[in-house]
Amino acid sequence: MIDPFGRHITYVRVSVTDRCDLRCVYCMAEDMTFLPKREVLSLEELERLCAAFIDLGVKKIRLTGGEPLVRRNVMSLIEGLGTRIGDGGLEELTLTTNGTQLTKMADGLARNGVKRINVSLDTLDPAAFKQATRWGDVAQVIDGIMAAKAAGLHVKINAVALRGINEHEYDRMLEWCGQHGFDLCLIETMPLGDVSEDRTDRFLSLDVVRARLRLRWTLDDTSYKTGGPARYYNVRETGARIGFITPLSHNFCESCNRVRVTCTGTMYMCLGQEDAADLRTPLREGLRDDALKAAILEAITRKPKGHDFVEERLNQAAVTRHMSVTGG
Ligand code: SAM
Ligand code: SF4
Repeated sequence: MIDPFGRHITYVRVSVTDRCDLRCVYCMAEDMTFLPKREVLSLEELERLCAAFIDLGVKKIRLTGGEPLVRRNVMSLIEGLGTRIGDGGLEELTLTTNGTQLTKMADGLARNGVKRINVSLDTLDPAAFKQATRWGDVAQVIDGIMAAKAAGLHVKINAVALRGINEHEYDRMLEWCGQHGFDLCLIETMPLGDVSEDRTDRFLSLDVVRARLRLRWTLDDTSYKTGGPARYYNVRETGARIGFITPLSHNFCESCNRVRVTCTGTMYMCLGQEDAADLRTPLREGLRDDALKAAILEAITRKPKGHDFVEERLNQAAVTRHMSVTGG
């Protein structure tokens, strides 16, 4: 699949549920209303959808959410997709998780061919974690991360940079990640969905964070790229990597290789734009996948050149859907 700007689309992020067991302040309102079940694709439908993307040349699938690991029986989907790794055309199956279920599920992930996962952890401090997630217990997540490590999964920690919540913790987190061999990726908050608190108060520029980190750590430039928005450095003192995702300060769209599908089968060609394609109708109407594949290919022809997040508009929710809908 090649879009109108010559970009090869080889990566799809699939949200398997809009539900979550946490309520991160930048992501969800506390009293979120979730989708009725009939609107959400079944696990079988999700698998057919992913299979169509793989047939069309997708090499990497990331499951996300909401929290992907709270979807009931999600392991059966992971098992099905796991069989496509290698000769089946898929090069990588991965997921982004908040880590709360990993003590139970890390082994199953590893068994089904998952090699690396991203775990969102904004802080190591129990009180700050509760403040960021409203409900979470950081010890449960850290146990989950250690279970993942023990299962042989490569872990990357994602932390959203939040003024007044974790802004004094990055040195400690970098050190902790280095000790355990985890890469760390810091993310700027993005204006997605109404979350009931003022996001401009929380916004922290990663240019400032990087400059502060450089007072203590040696960040060596690296050519390491994932095709995504992160800019990576090698941390000389720890041997691990640190990435910075700065969607607001810098443009990363030229190298975009991905599309996103929500748990209702809506395909978004760009995280920062409203244009979308309905894949649920062709999925539910046809027994064969021709119409589904045609709908995907048609949507790719509409992939926009880039997003238009602007810092001044941070609190106006540039896009009305929450990150838990498109999955990040
Ligand atoms: N529940 C899983 C988790 O937290 O990892 C997967 C879904 S979550 C929506 C995916 C990522 O999006 C998380 O790393 C989260 O921190 C990030 N995220 C959510 N809302 C965001 C926002 N407004 N700006 C930047 N990142 C956000
Ligand atoms: Fe849930 Fe992830 Fe959103 Fe936090 S960021 S509320 S864990 S979906």
